[in-house]
Amino acid sequence: MNNEEIRVRIAPSPTGSPHVGTAYIALFNYCFAKSHGGKFVLRIEDTDQERSDPVYEAMIMEALKWTGISWDEGPDVGGEFGPYRQSERTAIYRAHAQELMDAGHAYRCFCTPETLITIRGERSKHNLSTGYDGRCSRLEETISKQRAEAGELHTIRMNVPADGTCHVDDPMRDDVQFDYRVIDHQVLLKSNGFPTYHLANVVDDHLMKITHVIRGEDWLSSQPKHNLLYQYFGWQPPIVYHLPLLRNADKSKLSKRKNPTSILYYRELGIIPEALLNFLGLMAYSMPEGQEVFTVGEMVQHFDISRMSLGGPVFDLQKLTWINQQHLASMSDDELVRRVVNWRMNPAFFAKLMPLVNKRMHRLGDFIQLCDFMFFSNVDYELESLIPKKKEQNDTRDTLQLFVRELESLIRFEESHIESAFKRIGDMQGWSLRDLTASVRIAITGKKVAPPLFGVMEILGSDLCRNRLMEAIKKLGGKKSTGTK
Ligand code: GLU
Repeated sequence: MNNEEIRVRIAPSPTGSPHVGTAYIALFNYCFAKSHGGKFVLRIEDTDQERSDPVYEAMIMEALKWTGISWDEGPDVGGEFGPYRQSERTAIYRAHAQELMDAGHAYRCFCTPETLITIRGERSKHNLSTGYDGRCSRLEETISKQRAEAGELHTIRMNVPADGTCHVDDPMRDDVQFDYRVIDHQVLLKSNGFPTYHLANVVDDHLMKITHVIRGEDWLSSQPKHNLLYQYFGWQPPIVYHLPLLRNADKSKLSKRKNPTSILYYRELGIIPEALLNFLGLMAYSMPEGQEVFTVGEMVQHFDISRMSLGGPVFDLQKLTWINQQHLASMSDDELVRRVVNWRMNPAFFAKLMPLVNKRMHRLGDFIQLCDFMFFSNVDYELESLIPKKKEQNDTRDTLQLFVRELESLIRFEESHIESAFKRIGDMQGWSLRDLTASVRIAITGKKVAPPLFGVMEILGSDLCRNRLMEAIKKLGGKKSTGTK
């Protein structure tokens, strides 16, 4: 490998539906790498055993592939610096944690979760930062070793200077400073032997020869810990840029409570990948001539990392839709036919629908009418039709809200799991299955009579279902008010 080669990466954690923020960060890394003939790496950061799931990993890859952003190295394509899935690299992290311990930069911590809560409480009473107080760093090494050898559960924490200032270099920002007193003695290795994000991320960026890191602003506050780790290991850190976070219209951090955040939602809605990337590009970049509609190829051609900008980029669905329209309008009819067919007007998609409608068609054309809601961006209906007989509007709103939460907890969005979610929420709210499905059917299909609902929902997918339910909840008066059951 040539020493000058630029190597960047995205490092998503497979803990949920693929987020548009991942595509946003991927886009900038990709453009930077490609504009320099460098390499773009996909690394899966799945060290959070409880929250990570291979289903999400597959969805992230599917979503990124759909955007058209491709990676040169990754868990599926391999590469010189693999494995690219952190759960397969735990021995590497353990060895590095040991190295830090041997050099006195890290120590074993035997504090139990209960002790940690007490420590935090005490510190907050004394107006100290609520991190760990470092008591185990003062344990004699022989005692610490004995306790570990006797099998006592422990984590490994990093040492942090007791005072002083950490300067974070980010070319997008003026000098950013952190007082070491507010930096926690971060756990590097958990008691189950798995690393935390900080250790794994730094070790991998180094071992994978990452030269530049472009990531979201939410990681800026982790930088002092990362700087220390680079220093402790004696490694040259990469140059790190923190891009502004995508925002809801009210400027809060983009959240699915206020905006659909899944890449797959936009795909299902009929947004084309070129438009999504164009839109995400505008969030922190301006083209030299100020043009608003462009392709990733054009972005790569003109890419200049110093043009990445801060500001509070608002994820404005109307703007995205406008950009989508601009891209569609510039396509030939042949290309448009191809896009529409690929989207939903194809035999594979129809084949999924057919078992739901095959006994209901009198004429072939009925197929369209029976399934029209599968192709609409939104469904239309009267508010009253959402509320089952003898139920109240607020009760309906709260029940649908609980139902959405229940759906969100399903990792596999399949008919049988969806059905169980209906049953659980029905029982919880004292609603019959009939009432609950009646209300959800309207929200999802806009129809009182429709093909079997659980199957319909599975085909529509969790993101579209969720969005339609959120629209229904909005119609019913929005968020759950305090004081309702
Ligand atoms: N695993 C982190 C995430 O999910 C990676 C952050 C980084 O790029 O360092 O966003």
